[in-house]
Amino acid sequence: MSTDPSQFALTSVVADAILSAILLFLWVMQRKERHALFWGLGQVCIMSGTGLWLFGQQLVAPGLLNALCALALAGAMGFYWAGTQFFLGRLRRGQWRWALLGSLLMALALQPLWRGAAHWVIPSVTGLMGCMLVWCGVKLAGGRHRYRLLGITMVLRGVLNGTALLTLLPEVYLLWFTFSMLFKCLSMLGLIYAVQEEIQQRYGHTIDSLSNGFLIRDRRGYVHVANERCARLLGFDSPADLLGQHVSDLLPGLTRPMAEQYFAAFEAEGAVYPLSQEAVFHLHDGSELPIEMLASPYVERGQLFCLVQLLDISERRKKDAELYKAARIDPITGFYNRHALAARLAQTIASAPGQSCAVLFIDLDKFKRVNDSFGHAVGDELLRKVAKRLHGLLAADDILARFGGDEFIVVLPGLEGDGMEAAIACASQIIAAMGLSFNLSLHHGIGLSASVGLACYPLHGAECDILIRHADIAMYEAKKAGRGEWRLFNETMNQAAKDALVIDGALRQAIANEEFHLVYQPITDAHTQQLKKVEALLRWDSPLLGTVAPDRFIPVAEDSGLIVEIGTWVLRQACRQVALWKQGSLGEITISINVSAWQLVDPGFVALVQDALRSNGLAAHQLELELTERVLIDDGANVRAVLEQLRAMGVSISLDDFGTGYSSLSYLTQFHLNTLKIDRAFVMDIEHSERSNNLVHAIIAMGHSLGLQLVAEGVETAGQAHILEQMGCHYLQGFHIAKPILPDDMLLFAEQRGIPLLGASVVA
Ligand code: C2E
Ligand code: CA
Ligand code: CA
Repeated sequence: MSTDPSQFALTSVVADAILSAILLFLWVMQRKERHALFWGLGQVCIMSGTGLWLFGQQLVAPGLLNALCALALAGAMGFYWAGTQFFLGRLRRGQWRWALLGSLLMALALQPLWRGAAHWVIPSVTGLMGCMLVWCGVKLAGGRHRYRLLGITMVLRGVLNGTALLTLLPEVYLLWFTFSMLFKCLSMLGLIYAVQEEIQQRYGHTIDSLSNGFLIRDRRGYVHVANERCARLLGFDSPADLLGQHVSDLLPGLTRPMAEQYFAAFEAEGAVYPLSQEAVFHLHDGSELPIEMLASPYVERGQLFCLVQLLDISERRKKDAELYKAARIDPITGFYNRHALAARLAQTIASAPGQSCAVLFIDLDKFKRVNDSFGHAVGDELLRKVAKRLHGLLAADDILARFGGDEFIVVLPGLEGDGMEAAIACASQIIAAMGLSFNLSLHHGIGLSASVGLACYPLHGAECDILIRHADIAMYEAKKAGRGEWRLFNETMNQAAKDALVIDGALRQAIANEEFHLVYQPITDAHTQQLKKVEALLRWDSPLLGTVAPDRFIPVAEDSGLIVEIGTWVLRQACRQVALWKQGSLGEITISINVSAWQLVDPGFVALVQDALRSNGLAAHQLELELTERVLIDDGANVRAVLEQLRAMGVSISLDDFGTGYSSLSYLTQFHLNTLKIDRAFVMDIEHSERSNNLVHAIIAMGHSLGLQLVAEGVETAGQAHILEQMGCHYLQGFHIAKPILPDDMLLFAEQRGIPLLGASVVA
């Protein structure tokens, strides 16, 4: 068997060349893996040294050969050291240069030793290199657990290298060489593996450090790569559990055609990446996972893959749901708000086209007073209780919403016939339920009542906003009728509402344009027929609408609040007129002025009255304010305080239209009134109806007993005047005495009718 060392050395050079080429190639591919470069260069140095020794002896002078070999050794040791240090993360910046310099110095130091002792060159080179390899092996084995085997191989390679110091028998040399080569190849392959492994590790770390789930799947849907987050999202322990699985098995609900759809989308013209898709998946563990999938194409070895990012959107969904809820739910009561109601009503109508449904517009009476007296916290609590009580009256399919302020809407779907019967039944129930007192945490037994307006689909409107508006109009009518009433919408109401809008528009300019004037209706002493008072009655000649009766425009002005401004004008104008009559010697008469609720609760009202009297030189007893019972009910405490102030000033208070409204006797005693005006409706029939006759009789008797002055309104005949006088009514007002007349006609009128003027001469 031949043991020619040069033959072996050649084999070694070839092996070195291949291995160093692989390492350098790896570095070229992954520049970050600089240990591949260092180890590769180290191996190149070893290869060059061996080659030089093998072929250089004939070509190069022995001195130069020695120097070159020393250089190759220095390079190999320096680069191996640097490669290992770099691999273990211990190579500091520029340190490799010092290592190279150190090795170079060592090589120079070897020169004198080798001069004249050529047989020492190989053993010392391999010996020193062996030491370096042992050092590298120890470092690698100790540095990282998974490179222990590599380290051991390196150590063994180093040890074998070191044994080259010994002079070996040719048979042993062959064995030595075989093992040397084996360990060289193993260690080099180990190094190549380590470089590869590092690249893989970095790639894996990068994917794992992504905060989103990440996977790579092929065209058929099988998972090739997945990260930790992805495994956790899908309910698996480790990414390895996902590899090789089909995405449709990981995400139940994602079908195979759906999974393939991506690829079709990738290949579509003008596709924009990533493709986004949101879905909620029910995982194997029973949990729900809302995710957003962002998919991008990726080509590897000519094959199209799909990179999928999985974003857990549970939080986003939760926030979206909260926002959605906030936009639809009334925060105080927890029921729908007006926006949601409109949508639900539209849905109800659309989902059952042939069926009727009813909209109940509920407005709480006197709720404002609760807010004003007890504060908003109590108001809110009351609203919650009201909503709860309303909800308790409804069936599962019925809809309840807080429309705003103290307004609620109930929708009754799927009704029989035109739906009116059910709507009325429900409205009555609601009114009854609202009438029962509410126990609040701080204030027990707060009483309420509700006015309800009803509109039915399709009878009263085919669209939601029309239905709601019509129910609102009906509610408004219910409110006008008194507390705790319901009204079913009809077209007349709508017309009235439309009229009111037109009137409201025209009224706004009326004062400024001087479209108002006052007429005055005399009120005489029933016994002496002397003129005692006049009632100021407002007239409106609108250029747009013609003459509009006060019965039409006063309610509109009351609704819009314009009545305060109009009433102020009336009060000032009437007082001025009385002052003018006084100058014209009509004598001292009392002026009766109609006052609305809004005016009375206006903070400036008492001051206004004072000013109107003072600026016209009138005594307070010359002014009488006419109120209706409605005013007294509306805002009890407030009204009482204002009336007390007026009384204290000496102004008289008259209760108008007595007998038509609530006619609660308690008002007569609660409020200190001066005058009762018996409504025309009773006076009208007094001659022919015993009932009316008895009623007027009773009112007069009661007035007497309470010390009130009595005025009979609407006296149209002498017979009525006679009966009333007989009954003890103090004053008479009506067409029999006089129609409302213009101020200039007042003196003339008094003279023509021969009505004696109060202590004054009649002006001719
Ligand atoms: P009212 O206070 O009850 O006024 C009496 C109404 O009865 C007046 O109608 C008057 O013209 C009418 N009248 C008087 N005698 C007779 C009669 O013998 N037969 C008939 N059939 N009617 C008679 P007018 O002027 O149309 O006023 C209607 C209502 O408008 C008033 O009712 C009052 O509530 C309101 N109003 C009028 N002017 C004012 C005002 O300046 N302010 C406020 N707030 N309301 C006013
Ligand atoms: Ca009146
Ligand atoms: Ca009246």
